[in-house]
Amino acid sequence: MRFPMNGASEEDVLGELEDKTGEDLTFDSGKILGSMCTYPHPFAVEVVMRYIDRNLGDPGLHVGSQRIEKEAVDMLASLLGLEKGYGHIVSGGTEANILAVRAMRNLAGVEKPELILPESAHFSFIKAAEMLGVKLVWARLNDDYTVNVKEVEERIGDNTIGIVGIAGTTGLGVVDDIPSLSDLALDYGLPLHVDAAFGGFVIPFAKALGYNIPDFDFRLKGVKSITIDPHKMGMVPIPAGGIIFREKKFLESISILAPYLAGGKIWQATITGTRPGANALAVWAMIKHLGFEGYKEIVKEKMELARWFAGELKMIPGVYLIREPVLNIVSFGSKKLEELEKELKARGWGISAHRGYIRIVVMPHVKRKHLEEFLRDLREITAT
Ligand code: PLP
Repeated sequence: MRFPMNGASEEDVLGELEDKTGEDLTFDSGKILGSMCTYPHPFAVEVVMRYIDRNLGDPGLHVGSQRIEKEAVDMLASLLGLEKGYGHIVSGGTEANILAVRAMRNLAGVEKPELILPESAHFSFIKAAEMLGVKLVWARLNDDYTVNVKEVEERIGDNTIGIVGIAGTTGLGVVDDIPSLSDLALDYGLPLHVDAAFGGFVIPFAKALGYNIPDFDFRLKGVKSITIDPHKMGMVPIPAGGIIFREKKFLESISILAPYLAGGKIWQATITGTRPGANALAVWAMIKHLGFEGYKEIVKEKMELARWFAGELKMIPGVYLIREPVLNIVSFGSKKLEELEKELKARGWGISAHRGYIRIVVMPHVKRKHLEEFLRDLREITAT
């Protein structure tokens, strides 16, 4: 498509957009079962629209917004067991993880930096490693898909800059034994980064509901940084990730002087320069609006629905659960996985098979009626 010489009317352009996006799956259709995103909360959408012009890349111009971002970071830190945190609302889990690795690398100051991480870690760490010149040292998983802590210990060497643990793995929603990883990190004087991009907005509420999930946050002294994404279970519009550091020195180690900004020179730690203030304000607004009890209600419903769904799956011949769900993620396998995936996609389901299973994420837009429809299709396909 070429850059048009003359403009078209808004009506025509919108019409074309409607036509073209007709191919998209939408969250409200209930067909998207394999995504960690959801339809954002209407209040968060309103906040984003109202403050759409705010740029946190030049905070001297938007001093109020900068203060709100700091408060959002403080509220996230407090959810994660820390009185005062240092960090930013960023573009997502990928940027948050890259910043964490950057801080670990810069503070370690070794020539050939190595990072130890579970085989279940998100691919954002591969991007981080490539960009930052860090070698990834993988640790294998136990039978329950948590990282093998003994193997993590065996991998520690002179060049190790830190350890990564996952609180809510991308594929299965498994929470690593973060308490043991934290002890290990303290024993060896290494920082532990916890990737709770998904679990951060689930685990604190699930624990309050009585679910037996390991501790994962700053209450464990070895944990020095946490990724927590409001644009997943936080119900804030994309892009909204979060990186929280325990100590200021982590943030300082990745801050670059931005000398020419209209609002005056600043030290900037994020990867993006110009960045949306509106989304950071929406994080703040959603936390204020829903509060702990509001998020707890959402998590309660989705955790219960995930367990019901797992129970139903177990009764379908030809498919099997990979493991009992820990969070609101249910993954199942089948001997005929590829055919199953193809047929489910042909019926309009937004799912994907990877690592030998299909992952269903019971996000806020996923209702029981959608899962019932999905189960009907699954039964029909597996019966043939
Ligand atoms: N970390 C984990 C555990 C994730 O599951 C994901 C995304 O699914 C990410 C990081 C990356 O997040 P984003 O896609 O927002 O960059």
